[in-house]
Amino acid sequence: MTPIVFHPFICRSDNYGLLLHDPETGATASVDAPDAAAIASHLEARGWKLTHIFTTHHHQDHIEGNEALKQRFGCIIIGPRAEAAQIPAIDQSVSGGDQISWSGHTLSVLNCPGHTKGHIAFHLPSDQAVFAGDTLFSLGCGRVFEGTMDEMYRSVSQFGELPPDTRLFCGHEYTQSNARFALAVEPGNAALQQRAVEVDRLRAAGQMTCPSTTGQELATNPFLRTGSAEIRRALKLDSASDAEVFAELRRRKDTFK
Ligand code: ZN
Ligand code: FE
Repeated sequence: MTPIVFHPFICRSDNYGLLLHDPETGATASVDAPDAAAIASHLEARGWKLTHIFTTHHHQDHIEGNEALKQRFGCIIIGPRAEAAQIPAIDQSVSGGDQISWSGHTLSVLNCPGHTKGHIAFHLPSDQAVFAGDTLFSLGCGRVFEGTMDEMYRSVSQFGELPPDTRLFCGHEYTQSNARFALAVEPGNAALQQRAVEVDRLRAAGQMTCPSTTGQELATNPFLRTGSAEIRRALKLDSASDAEVFAELRRRKDTFK
């Protein structure tokens, strides 16, 4: 199996576009479709033809390009079963536990309710990569719009159970503002301090901060660190459950300035 080529880029101000390309077969997938014109121009620049779209959830900034890209490339759109009615031009719906065979590679589908009810993620173990949509961001996680805090806690925690060298591709470039919140609740975390410096340097140079790895996130992302004594002290939740710590972190992040 030839390694998949990953091409991430930023569009619509802070959305990540991501193209996956198999140089052996020519198969090319877009993870979500935030911006049809931007995706088409990144494809064109590489001479790639879009064969698939993997949709994580129904929000407009993840599906807006579906119709136009389908019209132009005739690509197959695979998305969350529980949101199939809200995914334009969807061909195939999947849910947690399903496996997708793509260009000789296998993607496993993870259910990630919380940000939206039917949100899914795609894990590509052969290439050490996971596509998390708006569930897990570098140093943060998505807002809980449709599901419960408990659901979001479990959805986010799953990523911490993947092999630590798994590259985390997420839906938005929010790392710099996430770092400010993470440092506010765990200022003594040396790995986090280092990551924040690196993120500032990358953003100042106009570069992307993703992908990170799930191992890096376990060491730095407060939403995967609900057992941290420092975080628990900061929240005055020393003996609370992990799910309670998670919920309090998420609530505080919602109003953090
Ligand atoms: Zn979203
Ligand atoms: Fe989004």
